[in-house]
This record gives sequence, C-alpha cells and structure tokens, in this order.
Amino acid sequence: MIRFVGAGCGAADLITVRGQRLLQEADVIIYAGSLVNPALLTYAKAGAKIYNSAEMTLEEVLSVMFEAEERGLSVVRLHTGDPCLYGAIREQMDALDKKGIAYDYTPGVSSFCGAAAALNMEYTLPSVSQSVVITRMAGRTPVPERESVRAFAKHKATMVLFLSTGLLEKTQQELIEGGYDPETPAAIVYKASWPDEKTVLCTVSSLADCAKQNGIRKTALIIVGDAVRQSGYARSELYNPAFATEFRPAKE
Ligand code: SAH
Repeated sequence: MIRFVGAGCGAADLITVRGQRLLQEADVIIYAGSLVNPALLTYAKAGAKIYNSAEMTLEEVLSVMFEAEERGLSVVRLHTGDPCLYGAIREQMDALDKKGIAYDYTPGVSSFCGAAAALNMEYTLPSVSQSVVITRMAGRTPVPERESVRAFAKHKATMVLFLSTGLLEKTQQELIEGGYDPETPAAIVYKASWPDEKTVLCTVSSLADCAKQNGIRKTALIIVGDAVRQSGYARSELYNPAFATEFRPAKE
C-alpha cells in the first residue's frame, strides 16, 4: 500500500494528524527533499528507510515503491504542500494502477493557504474579488496559451503564482499587459510557515525589484490583486444580522 501524503507547506506541525500517523507507521518514506521540511522526518520510526526524491527520477521512485510493495512494506510518498498542485502524482498513480498496487491520498496544507496565513489575508473579499486564480508562468513545463498569465490578468481577480519567482520581470509585464493596473497591490511570500518565512508587500510594477532587494529568488509565491490591500470590502452577508440563514433567523 502506497500512501501519498501532503506534508503541508513548511512548519512540521502543519501536517494533518492523519499524515503524521502515516509517517510514524511507515516502513519506507520517499520525501520531496527540495521543499519538504526535514523536521517532518523526526516522526519516522526507528529503522524506517528514507529516500529523498529530489535526487531521484520517476523510474527510481517507482522502483523503490515496487520493491517495498513486494516485501509487504508500507510506503509514504511525502509531497510538499498538497500533492494536487504541481505535485506530479498522476504519473505515479498511473504506474501503480498498471501494477495493481493500491494507494490512497491524504491532503495537506498547500502553500497558497500558508501564504494567506502569513499575510493574515482573505483572498475572497466581498465586492473586491470572489475568485482565486492559481497558476504559474511557463517554464520548462509549458502552460497552454489560453491559460497564460496575460489571459487570466484581464479578470483582475486575486491571483496566486507558483513557480514563477525566477521570472518576475516577465511576470509583471504579462500581468500589466493583461489588465492589472501597475499600482495593483501585490505580495511576495517566501517560505510560508518556515522559520525563515518572509513577506514583502509591493505593487505589480515593483515585483521584480522588491524580490531582488529582499534576495528572494525561489520558494516563494506571488499574490496579486486588489484583495492584497485588505480594505474597501463589503461586510459579509452570512454574518449580517438582517440576513436569515438555515441556522439563524434574521435579527433586525
Ligand atoms: N504542492 C505544493 C506546490 C509545489 S510547486 C503546494 O501545494 O504548495 C513548488 C512551488 O510552490 C514553489 O516554487 C513555490 O512557488 C511554492 N511553494 C512551496 N512551498 C512554499 C512555501 N512554504 N512558501 C512559499 N511558496 C512555496
């Protein structure tokens, strides 16, 4: 049995209770060493075999899984944040399906949630933005043209950019050409929930400069949109006394 587990975005106590239990029980742990906090490995039992997938190919990861399965060992495949975003889990699951090996999936706290927490920020402010675009600049992995940052920018929704910190000149250009005002507030969150977490507030037009000034080149998220200002919003209808819900009559 292979357990895919979301490690959370950094702090070792942000893993789920279930994820922690699976780590404690695992005979074999394959963790994404580039971004998973090594402190999580202290949950492993004595004698657990630990592999860092940052140094391995897909084929090597699979062969560790196949061998462990043959020997009846339990395997945790530990991915950063939540595996559903840029996690490359589908290709592993398909290979396991082909071999008839069972697996399951325990979610984790994605870094886009960790970044909101670092900023004490609500992405979906009433009358400001009710949508979050999660995307990335094209890198070695291409992005379909219809999903380009430029194309999404015309919505001026809250946007969270993964995997793009090395391309900020181009990112800010696409954001502006696509429709965001250059003065739109933006934030850079470096290593959300890690001990060396850093948050920087700037504008769309100063993203590249601000990252440079703060020495941030990777492991960061870029958050863009009027919601970053965290003001000028309408109060919620849900908690409005005049609004009746299934759980509460109107109080005015
Ligand atoms: N599955 C992960 C994302 C993996 S892609 C998740 O759910 O968060 C790797 C990218 O995620 C990094 O390049 C960076 O943009 C972002 N990232 C991961 N951890 C982060 C953190 N703690 N703080 C800020 N960004 C992070």
